[in-house]
Amino acid sequence: MQQWDVIVIGAGAAGLFCAIEAAKRGRKTLVLDNGKRIGRKILMSGGGRCNFTNMYASPANFLSQNKHFCKSALSRYTQWDFLALVQQYQIPYHEKTLGQLFCDNSAKDIVDMLQQECDKAGVQIALQQEIQTVTFSDGQYQLQSKGLTRSCQSLVVASGGLSLPNLGATAFGFQLAEQFGLKVLPVRAGLVPLTWQPDDKAVYEEISGVSLPVTAEANDVLFPEDMLFTHRGLSGPAILQVSSFWQPGDEVVVNLSPQQNIFEFLTEAQQKHPEQELKTALSRLLPKRLVEKLLAQNLLANQPLKALNPKSSQRIADLLHHFVFKPNGTEGYRTAEVTLGGVDTDELSSKTMEAKKQPGLYFIGEVVDVTGWLGGYNFQWAWSSGWVAGQYC
Ligand SMILES: Cc1cc2nc3c(=O)[nH]c(=O)nc-3n(C[C@H](O)[C@H](O)[C@H](O)COP(=O)(O)OP(=O)(O)OC[C@H]3O[C@@H](n4cnc5c(N)ncnc54)[C@H](O)[C@@H]3O)c2cc1C
Repeated sequence: MQQWDVIVIGAGAAGLFCAIEAAKRGRKTLVLDNGKRIGRKILMSGGGRCNFTNMYASPANFLSQNKHFCKSALSRYTQWDFLALVQQYQIPYHEKTLGQLFCDNSAKDIVDMLQQECDKAGVQIALQQEIQTVTFSDGQYQLQSKGLTRSCQSLVVASGGLSLPNLGATAFGFQLAEQFGLKVLPVRAGLVPLTWQPDDKAVYEEISGVSLPVTAEANDVLFPEDMLFTHRGLSGPAILQVSSFWQPGDEVVVNLSPQQNIFEFLTEAQQKHPEQELKTALSRLLPKRLVEKLLAQNLLANQPLKALNPKSSQRIADLLHHFVFKPNGTEGYRTAEVTLGGVDTDELSSKTMEAKKQPGLYFIGEVVDVTGWLGGYNFQWAWSSGWVAGQYC
């Protein structure tokens, strides 16, 4: 039987970061993962460039049943702390937009940095490990995998959520929490494209690829970003953001022209170019294929601008500022970036991430009911929660 101080399950962002901190404290630390390599999600994140944090990260950017839970970890290991590490490794990075920091070259830079930190601190890593059972007796956890028994004082669960099952995602962390009597809140896909109702699909799939800046709103939460029409539904950052707030049956309201008041635009255009057609005028503001589609659907009637009266201009403005979309559902875990819900934060200490009623058992990262917005927030939660657990486990 192998004896360890700390075993971390999951060689993702949270697990590796926790292991590094624990090993720096002199704890004999092992990371187990079911995959062939460490940091698989990091490697494919941010389109291969990893949006590793956000300069404006704050507790307001996270969803959780307990909005206050994430405050402690986020304030003790901040985006500036992680950025200092990135700078220490001289990893080139840039701000893409809205405080989102991306690698200039490749997400591999971040994984290499974590590997080097693991090596320096003496973290051991065992890959392609399927854990069959976990038991607890005499203050020790016993893990069975491939006929080998490993024992540890502190067991850290960093096995992530359910998104991207083909990348090794499992419900292991949720099941383990339940095995030890901890409450797990219902999970669902977040940061995920929303799909058309069959009738809408028949109409809008033809304009897949059209993208435009919008504001999208669901359940009174509004995000100004880009939106993309796809074959299956709506996507793009604005839609991914609102998807985390959307519940089945809800509508999503999209302002297709957030920067320009359509009524004022039409009134001015009518004065300057009375003979111009509505289609031509609107195509100066919106993608032409979208305007044509709205006309083809009789949602708009093409006519010379001079034929518009204030009432008809207002009707066009209302339609474009309040484009209502009732999704059929989401694309699910296959394409979701995150899993909402998870281990109930009421069960954990926000200072240490340790289970209140199960000494030595810790949950960090995405397996916990803390989910960030799109934009580097989810990695910051992984770093912060991993770092704090690493100080105690
Ligand atoms: C396509 C995509 C792009 C993303 N881009 C970004 C981005 O740019 N910025 C951002 O902030 N967030 C991004 N995210 C979200 C971010 O990747 C996650 O929130 C983050 O990786 C969570 O870290 P984690 O360590 O908790 O879990 P994970 O990174 O999921 O790591 C969990 C690890 O545990 C392993 N595991 C699972 N079950 C078992 C088991 N039973 N036994 C052993 N090992 C197991 C998994 O194989 C995995 O290696 C993206 C997500 C996706 C899917």
